[in-house]
Amino acid sequence: MATSEELHKRRVEAVARGVGSTIPAYVDRAGGGTITDVDGREWIDFAAGIAVTNVGNSAPRVVEAVRAQVERFTHTCFMVAPYESYVAVCEQLNALTPGGFEKRSALFNSGAEAVENAVKIARHATGRPAVVVFDHAYHGRTNLTMALTAKNMPYKHRFGPFAGEVYRVPMSYPLRDGGLDGATAAARSIEMIEKQVGAENVAALLIEPIQGEGGFVVPAPGFLPALREWATAAGVVFVADEIQTGFCRTGDWFACEHEGVEPDLITLAKGIAGGLPLAAVTGRAELMDAVHVGGLGGTYGGNPIACAAALASVETMRELDLAAAARRIGAVMGERLRAIAAGDPRVAEVRGRGAMLAVEIVVPGTLTPDPAATAAISAACHAAGLLTLTCGTYGNVLRFLPPLVISDDELGRGLDILAAAFG
Ligand SMILES: *Cc1c(COP(=O)(O)O)cnc(C)c1O
Repeated sequence: MATSEELHKRRVEAVARGVGSTIPAYVDRAGGGTITDVDGREWIDFAAGIAVTNVGNSAPRVVEAVRAQVERFTHTCFMVAPYESYVAVCEQLNALTPGGFEKRSALFNSGAEAVENAVKIARHATGRPAVVVFDHAYHGRTNLTMALTAKNMPYKHRFGPFAGEVYRVPMSYPLRDGGLDGATAAARSIEMIEKQVGAENVAALLIEPIQGEGGFVVPAPGFLPALREWATAAGVVFVADEIQTGFCRTGDWFACEHEGVEPDLITLAKGIAGGLPLAAVTGRAELMDAVHVGGLGGTYGGNPIACAAALASVETMRELDLAAAARRIGAVMGERLRAIAAGDPRVAEVRGRGAMLAVEIVVPGTLTPDPAATAAISAACHAAGLLTLTCGTYGNVLRFLPPLVISDDELGRGLDILAAAFG
């Protein structure tokens, strides 16, 4: 077998430079809480393929379901000749997502595609043009979702012009907004929407209940409920982007549940199918069904193999109670991270929920972001056998997203490496 170094040489000659990788190691196999490269080097996995393999890599039920489906048929296109598993995934999503009202779902390939479709549905149903998004938001890399995403480098730089009718308002970011309470932060954002856009022009308010790429920003309590209440009164479709927070990651099935918020539409992807590409929009039947027949779809959306994997993933989450596992991981990880923070003035804050935790790194005694220190700690982790990711508008957040099936031993060893990396 080729070595990671050999594969890296081939990659540089064959793969476009714009596609980056966190580590220059080429995977041979992965499972539980580890990834092993072609040279036999092992990393403890605190990335889960960016919050995707919540049920683990090659989870037994997923493997079995995919194998059975791939032998029956691989693709007919749901828009041409439909099949049961697509319907069954929609039934599961309608039942699992917050809100006791009648729902419908539609399936797509990627998170960005789900977000695009949520905007299409909200605009069509309301007849209004504007979409409101937040500082630090990340919603994808397609043209519309680049417009919805806040950060220029690397996501938007020289990729414009971007889609119109997108308006950005402040996020509740307690560490950096002087600790505004949720209601006050929401009032500030709402006033900006009303003065600068006009509520009657707004189709959708789109928000990540805990921001992902933007820095694992957890809004102050009351922020999401206040926005939800305003959206209802203003006839604005409240869209929760739970692409990173969904499927047990934060210790509930979905992060909105923590404050009892019921979105009108919810976008889903990442953790939905154990690593197979699948995404969804789920929401109020009257909004979803407002769109004419043929108005939603795509060649591969709801591919039967991905649907089989999604059904097996959801079954695994239920059977292993992975929401409880996320809470347990969060408790163990949170305690260790707070201990690290107590001894290291570079850590401004430990935040997140469940198995979605992060630390924000600053110049000691200030709130000045320190992306160089963040990158150095991350590199020390990678060198010592722990795969971590960074994020944040300022590139100064280390985030931790282990698979929810990681063993206590692997979790403990990963946290030991992390503590050593902080030195
Ligand atoms: C990853 C992500 C997306 C985009 O999903 P892709 O599958 O990469 O297109 C959108 N929103 C959030 C919150 C995400 O974390």
